[in-house]
Amino acid sequence: MSSRIEKCNAFALRITNYSNTSQIINFFSDKFGHIDVIAKGSRSSKSKQQGLLQPMSNYEIIIYKKENSLSLLKEISLIESNLELFTELEKSAATYAAGEIYLQLMFEKNDYEKFYNLLQKYLSYLKKIRQNHILIFWRFLLRVLIFLGFPMNLEKCAICDETNHKKIYGISFSKNGLICKNCIQKNGSSNKFKCTKSGLEILFSLKNISAKIDSIKISKSAKKEINEIFKTYLTYHFHKNIYLKSFDIL
Ligand SMILES: [Zn+2]
Repeated sequence: MSSRIEKCNAFALRITNYSNTSQIINFFSDKFGHIDVIAKGSRSSKSKQQGLLQPMSNYEIIIYKKENSLSLLKEISLIESNLELFTELEKSAATYAAGEIYLQLMFEKNDYEKFYNLLQKYLSYLKKIRQNHILIFWRFLLRVLIFLGFPMNLEKCAICDETNHKKIYGISFSKNGLICKNCIQKNGSSNKFKCTKSGLEILFSLKNISAKIDSIKISKSAKKEINEIFKTYLTYHFHKNIYLKSFDIL
């Protein structure tokens, strides 16, 4: 089987122990998108790589790249450790959730670098804020949706352009965003989600959260509601079940 030596920058999305001393890493890289790599002997005490591999940290890696099987890790050096993101529960969940999403989505070749940069930006922003990390996660998801080519319109009713918040019913998955009560009555829509008042308020605020991030209060039920909307939206557009387990613990 042919393999060639390649170098790239990559986030370790998931690390799984393999045999007694090795690990399998699902990386997301700037150059090749998803790559699955085996680090032989990386858990052995003699290995230079021992303890270096941490989920969601950013590395420069040199691999023997194989097309249809696991690539082989040759060298690895740390670009940025993201260990500090695992000091609090909500921050950890927001960090893992981004990895979870990337593990499940497929990206176009031309977009690899864009998605790599987006993840890097997102994680460094998470480090700076003290609370409501989940808001930054939702904003990150909105950007993911834009890059994927099906942005969620949160400004007005997708059918009639109604902007009055009080008249909005919720989200239509087939119309890619908000839908008003009037249009629901007139047209009906089978792929819809009825939002609560507090759920809608959060959705409206997502575009412009940086300034007020500390003052927004998010209830447990609103968290559940908005995660459900994103999960269903992605599932609808990707035609496959998307899960978001990281936030179930919160
Ligand atoms: Zn409408």
